[in-house]
Amino acid sequence: MTANDLLAESRNIWFPVVLRLDNTTKALVIGGGEVAANKVSLLLATDTRIIVISPTLCDELQRALHAGRVEHIATEATRAVLETHLPGARLVYAATNDKAVNHLTAELAQALNIPVCAVDDPDPSSFITPAIVRRGPVMVAISTSGAAPVLARRIRERIEAMLPAGISRLSRFMQNARRKMAQIHPSPETRRRVWENFLDGRGMEQALAGDESGASTTLDRLASDEKGGGEVWLVGAGPGDADLLTLKALRLMQNADSVLYDHLLPPDILDRVRRDAERIFVGKQKANHALPQPSINDELIRRAKAGERVLRLKGGDPFIFGRGGEEIEALMEAGVPFRVVPGISAANGCAASSGIPLTHRDCAQSCLFLTGHARADGTLDLPWHTIALRGQTVVIYMGLGGIASLCEQLMTHGLPPTWPAAVIEKGTQPDQRVITADLTSLPRLTIEQDFRSPALIIVGEVVKHRVA
Ligand code: SAH
Repeated sequence: MTANDLLAESRNIWFPVVLRLDNTTKALVIGGGEVAANKVSLLLATDTRIIVISPTLCDELQRALHAGRVEHIATEATRAVLETHLPGARLVYAATNDKAVNHLTAELAQALNIPVCAVDDPDPSSFITPAIVRRGPVMVAISTSGAAPVLARRIRERIEAMLPAGISRLSRFMQNARRKMAQIHPSPETRRRVWENFLDGRGMEQALAGDESGASTTLDRLASDEKGGGEVWLVGAGPGDADLLTLKALRLMQNADSVLYDHLLPPDILDRVRRDAERIFVGKQKANHALPQPSINDELIRRAKAGERVLRLKGGDPFIFGRGGEEIEALMEAGVPFRVVPGISAANGCAASSGIPLTHRDCAQSCLFLTGHARADGTLDLPWHTIALRGQTVVIYMGLGGIASLCEQLMTHGLPPTWPAAVIEKGTQPDQRVITADLTSLPRLTIEQDFRSPALIIVGEVVKHRVA
């Protein structure tokens, strides 16, 4: 790397801060056109004095002047003028269309240690303005350090859509209740839990809607019930691609006190669980039960009763071959509150990522989800006459180990040897592999190509409609 490269890199290092601009501060805007007006409109969200230096003002600035929101110094920004007005400014925007004037402004401001932004020109600037999403006191600033303004704008649009309008009411409510909460619960850990329960439940909706007395009642109830709020969230994490998590899954992942997860979950998904949450691996790889099911149930119950918000994170959907049913029965019996959040099951994920539709008007009017997991004695006891049917897609979970016997049974019960079938290994993940073949050749090909779990088998004429 040359010295020039280093210099170019060091120019792009920016640090985010939130600056106080109240009625004791003054901000200077040099320039009177639309670009200057943009900066003035940002400053208008604060109480600062705004001084605009420019011989003329555009319509928008004229309006701000008449509304008494800005002061106008109607002159060219010469060195002498700048030297008179810069001292004491908290912030300066150099927003003229004359690069030399902007540079001069930046140079003089930097000499006085006043933060200065020469618009669209990071080199002489000491700060840049991020894209901002504002809801009262809540602010989100987005910056790509000047690298990609269009990307910053796109991210801002998403955040705009995510933050409900009432969020400023909510944050004010929380601010007002802070002192009272600190008196009731000196421990920050307990306070965090109470607030998170508040945000997860009715309280948040009440505060967003401006129902302060309702929100207060909810908060009081949560605050007086220290051990309360423990519950279990049975959440589907989808087939492996972290982008396929639901918004709800992600929100609960970021609020959990502890997480019990099994072996199918890639690190990329686990990374999105709240950093401080305790992680408990409960395994469930065929030959290697890290924790048997009854112990998992007991662990969920014990933790929830101790007041924890326990995330039971499962691959795919919790209610499809996920033993979610057994877990909620145990929770019901123990009187532990729970919620279930669906996930994208392997069938949906693999179908989409391999381009094989699950139903098709021409050839598949129904779709069957099947477990290929053999019983303890190695047999696969299934109603083959309802499975080996034309006009139907059969999706087999956990079927890789028994694939030879599966294909054999399907042929014995009436499907032709040329019947299409596919295996998808690690569907939706970057290293996904797919084999499409027929019932006769598929078992051999999976062995030759060393396919491993997790893998999903799709049998039926839909395989022919694959769009790769
Ligand atoms: N609850 C899960 C299924 C758990 S059973 C769901 O709804 O998807 C585990 C089986 O799911 C694996 O043996 C495999 O057959 C299938 N599976 C899960 N994730 C998969 C993936 N990414 N690619 C292929 N098959 C997958």
